[in-house]
Amino acid sequence: MEFGLQKEGLSKDEVMSLLDWARKRDLPYSRILSSMCTDPHPIAVEAHVKFIEANLGDAGLFPGTKCIECKVVRMLGSILGNPDAVGYITTGGTESNIQGIRSARNMAKRKHPNIIVSESGHFSFDKIADILQVEVRKASLDENFMVDLGSVEDLVDENTAAIVGIAGTTEFGQIDPIEGLSNIAQKEGIFLHIDAAFGGFVIPFLEKEYKFGFEVDGVTSISIDPHKMGMSTIPAGGLLFREKRFLKGLSISTPYLSTKAQYSLTGTRSGGAAVATYAVLMHLGYDGLKKSALRCVNMAKMLVDRVENFGVYPIVDPIMNVLALDVPKIEKVLLMLLVRGWRVSVTRKPRALRLVIMPHTTEENLNLFIEDLKEIVKNC
Ligand SMILES: *Cc1c(COP(=O)(O)O)cnc(C)c1O
Repeated sequence: MEFGLQKEGLSKDEVMSLLDWARKRDLPYSRILSSMCTDPHPIAVEAHVKFIEANLGDAGLFPGTKCIECKVVRMLGSILGNPDAVGYITTGGTESNIQGIRSARNMAKRKHPNIIVSESGHFSFDKIADILQVEVRKASLDENFMVDLGSVEDLVDENTAAIVGIAGTTEFGQIDPIEGLSNIAQKEGIFLHIDAAFGGFVIPFLEKEYKFGFEVDGVTSISIDPHKMGMSTIPAGGLLFREKRFLKGLSISTPYLSTKAQYSLTGTRSGGAAVATYAVLMHLGYDGLKKSALRCVNMAKMLVDRVENFGVYPIVDPIMNVLALDVPKIEKVLLMLLVRGWRVSVTRKPRALRLVIMPHTTEENLNLFIEDLKEIVKNC
């Protein structure tokens, strides 16, 4: 039934009842093991609502909100090895990747620009190929599902504008050898964009140290998503550059606004999500973020230990809270999990059961999931 816009408005109660009706069909996060998004932290929601009308697209009118955004960028920079990094709060990993590559493309000035990203790159890079008219060359993966450095070297040529390294792949949760990519990028004098949309809020807190941020010399820009493991509200992504000069590749002059230039992709943009991110980071601090990330990582490890007992093994040793499990008769397992109310996903190559353990996952629900999976696998 589609009615279009009503001639006469409804009462607030009537509208709310329509919203409740729609909401009932939405899935609560509790049984979702496929999403990299999660319930926002309550303080993020409160902060977002307080700044609901703030438009960072016209920052001269909202200097208070702008100042908070700068502080968020500084905090993200400090998580990523350079508190002096510059950037802004985007709508998410997709915009951050588009803009990181746009800056590199514009500054590198290649005749027929190409970029190199691994086969397990996020699909935002396929949008980038289309929007930015750059050729996206896919490097192959090694046996650990990380980018193969030899393959990257083979693909680089005089038209390469940037290499992309992924710190926390969407499908396997693996971390590309960023230092190796940095060596190639520096030797060739090209940009190195790190997609840490998911891993940015996990990898810095792991027991084992992985160098993936600005502490690696060749890294020029990084995506990191507060609306995933940062527990901010949607839409909150982060795009950071090592130095201010990289913003030149994005600058567009803005007549009739309170500011002279704009670096963002969108015009009008949410101040609420930037402030929500600030609220979470200030409230949790380094220790709180670490605790939340490690809770997810440890639950993922626990899940692996438990499923190994009934013959299900990860296709690659998990580093973070993203798992790819080799299950028999995967299509049947996926269906049977679905009818039991679980939302899981599947990797492309090879097809494996993909699980993301997020802050909304409770140990109780994870136990229920493991029991269900055990039964389903036994009947396969
Ligand atoms: C989630 C994700 C993205 C896309 O982020 P959106 O916020 O959905 O636009 C890009 N890259 C990686 C590695 C991701 O995990």
